[in-house]
Amino acid sequence: MQLYTKILIGLIAGAVVGAVANLGEITILQNIFSEIEILGTAFINLITMIVIPLVVASLLVGTASLGDLTKLGRIGGKTLAYYMLTTAVAVTIGLGLANVLAPGAGVTEETRIELTERYGGDAASRMDIAENAPSWKETLLRVIPRNPVQAAANMDLLPLIFFTICFGAALTVVTPQRRDSVLTFFHGINDASMVLINWIMELAPYAVFVLIGSVVANFGFDLLQSLLAYTLVVVAGLMIHAFGTYGLIIRFLAGLNPAKFYPRIAAAPLLAFSTSSSNATLPLTIETAEDKVGVSNEVASFVLPLGATINMDGTALYQAVAVMFIAQIYGVDLALADQLVIVLTATLASVGAAGVPSAGIITLIIVLNSVGMGEHVQAGIALILGVDRILDMIRTSVNVTGDITCSAVIARSEGEPLTLMEAVATDSA
Ligand code: ASP
Repeated sequence: MQLYTKILIGLIAGAVVGAVANLGEITILQNIFSEIEILGTAFINLITMIVIPLVVASLLVGTASLGDLTKLGRIGGKTLAYYMLTTAVAVTIGLGLANVLAPGAGVTEETRIELTERYGGDAASRMDIAENAPSWKETLLRVIPRNPVQAAANMDLLPLIFFTICFGAALTVVTPQRRDSVLTFFHGINDASMVLINWIMELAPYAVFVLIGSVVANFGFDLLQSLLAYTLVVVAGLMIHAFGTYGLIIRFLAGLNPAKFYPRIAAAPLLAFSTSSSNATLPLTIETAEDKVGVSNEVASFVLPLGATINMDGTALYQAVAVMFIAQIYGVDLALADQLVIVLTATLASVGAAGVPSAGIITLIIVLNSVGMGEHVQAGIALILGVDRILDMIRTSVNVTGDITCSAVIARSEGEPLTLMEAVATDSA
């Protein structure tokens, strides 16, 4: 059985049992899920623990084996341009839908007050986190690490990527004998990390069952009702982007058949859905791009860690709808110029968001402030917090799908054959 099928079974089983516990008000089952949620967290820790060794080893090997630094520059330029453009398209889709469908229009005063009271405290603590976030200048400066070991220890991927690329580039000019001994070492780490991922993935279906079960068992379904229009608009936008925009890109820029592409890569977005974290999914994202799509290590090792850190189309789209929704509720009229500001800031805010759960709602504060909605930030965040987890799951899947799609496009543009796409899938991972 394919890995994605196994994960899907775990996911559906978790959702069903969780829903029975929740809707049937079986408190004992809800409590069991609350207690065993820790097993899901243990699994997330397990996959996250490979991120640093894998990113460093595969990126170093990838950069050093490119041999020619102009190729690295070219791939880097194309990747950044692709990420920014697709994110801007995602924001535009979100804005378009929110303008046409106006999800905020039907929210009653009563719901607004109830949600603000229920989530006001939680929203205030998110604002504290946002206030302590580094400024843009600091963020840019932090791309260059003073201490790469510290960057690795803090799971700060961007500085680590920067250092590893510099180091890999330097390796290309040292004598072959010295270079080879370093590369052999990191090749070994890369291969061992891949083996480890496959072992850990054996646990994925059970972990997903627990993770999804605990979310559903304790989810406030009543909230879903009052925020239904908003939730549906975000989900519709995400689906349009994931299957429409990416479908076209896969067909015309990567030259692949979308109907074959999606099932081939499905395990990674499903894991992203279950963990709400692009970072935790990264090892599987890399493995999927290389083994299921046939992207070379040189391209995958560069494009995907970068993508997990800076490419978040799903997050940006969600932020666009969220800002419009909050504006509609408070009767703030956002003119075309404001919406252009949203395109810009949501694109940049998604770059700044880390690939961890709920990161998007923190950077949403930046977008709200950018269009002069500072006074509604806390109450606005409180309004949408109740359904944030579920939307986080879906937007993270889109983020990861976007990363893999980009790796296929870049690989194709570099003349790679992407042969595995056509292979008959009989393997288990
Ligand atoms: N959880 C998302 C990710 O890891 C970020 C976010 O939108 O909150 O990609």
